[in-house]
Amino acid sequence: MVPTFSIVAPVYNEAENLPILYRRIREVMDSTGESWELVLVDDGSRDGSTDTIRQLGIEDSRVRPVIFARNFGHQIAVTAGLDFARGQAVVIIDSDLQDPPEVILDMIERWREGYQVVYAVRSEREGETWFKKFTASFFYRLIYRITDVKIPLDTGDFRLLDRQVVNVLTTMRERHRFLRGMASWVGFRQTGVSYRRAARFAGSTKYPFRKMLKLALNAITSFSYFPLQVATYLGFISAGLSIIAIPIVAFLRLAVGTPAARALTGQATTLIAVLFLGGVQLISLGILGEYIGRIYDEVKGRPLYITSETPTETISEVSQESH
Ligand code: UDP
Ligand code: MG
Repeated sequence: MVPTFSIVAPVYNEAENLPILYRRIREVMDSTGESWELVLVDDGSRDGSTDTIRQLGIEDSRVRPVIFARNFGHQIAVTAGLDFARGQAVVIIDSDLQDPPEVILDMIERWREGYQVVYAVRSEREGETWFKKFTASFFYRLIYRITDVKIPLDTGDFRLLDRQVVNVLTTMRERHRFLRGMASWVGFRQTGVSYRRAARFAGSTKYPFRKMLKLALNAITSFSYFPLQVATYLGFISAGLSIIAIPIVAFLRLAVGTPAARALTGQATTLIAVLFLGGVQLISLGILGEYIGRIYDEVKGRPLYITSETPTETISEVSQESH
C-alpha cells in the first residue's frame, strides 16, 4: 500500500530526540487523516540511535528504518530517505526537532493548492550561537550571488516535495550534493512558508565548522563556475596592471633617475610582484584541483551510500506490482 505522505528524517546520534520526534510526527500526521510513513535514515550513529530506530520500526510498521554501514553525511542520508520514500508528497525534516513538525500541516495545505515544492523559510532562529547565525546568513547570501540557481534565502532542507519532483531528484546521482540547490534547479511550482526555527531539543549540533565549510564548497562548486573564472579575472587584472606599469617604470628609470624612483624599481618591488603572482597562481591551481577532485569522485561512480538494513519495499517495486 502506498502512503499519501512520507516523512524523511536523517539521524546521526540523536537517540534522545528520536522518541519525541516520532511522537510529534505521529500526532501531526494522524491529524491529517491520511496514510503516512516515517523513513528514518540512520547515518552511522554510535549512540544507540540505531537500536531506537529498529525498535520504532517494530512497534509501528509505518516507521521504515534505513540503516547505513557508516556515516555518509547529512545530504547523502536525506538522499537515501528520498530513495526509500513512497509517498505522494515527501517531507524532509531534521531529527533534532529544530524543524517543528507542526509546520508540515502548512506545507500540506500549500501542496493541496498545487505547489510541488514547499520550502520552509526561517524567520527566526532560536538557541543558536551568533557565529552559526552569522556564517549561515553569510553563506546563504554568497550562494545566492555567485550561483546560477536562485536558492531562496534562509531555507534549509526542511521542505515538502511532490512525488513528481522526488522522481526527478532521485535520478540525479551526483556525489557532492547540495539538495536545496538541486530542489531549486529542477523548477516546478515552488512556494515558501515561514516558521520559527526552534532550538535543538537535545544533544549538540552535528555540523561543526568543518562540515559547514564542506557543504558550502559543495554548494558553490555544484552550481557555479565562479571560482574558476576568478583566475581569469585576476590574470586580466595583473596583465593590465603590468602593461600600465611598464612605460611608467621605464620613464622613471631613464628620465627621472632620483633615489625614490630607483627604490620603486628595485629588488623588493620585484620580489613582492613575484610572490603576489606566485600566490595567485597557487590559489588558482588549488581551485582547479578542487574541481578536478570532484570530477574524479563522480567518474569513479561508486554508490552514494551503503546500507546494512533497508525496508523491504521501494517505490519502484510498488509501481512494478501495480503494472
Ligand atoms: N545529520 C546526519 N549526518 C551527519 C550530520 C547530521 O544525518 O553527518 C543529521 C542530524 O542528525 C540532524 C540533521 O542532519 O537530523 C541536521 O544536523 P544538525 O542539527 O546537527 O545541524 P544544524 O541544525 O546544527 O545545522
Ligand atoms: Mg539541527
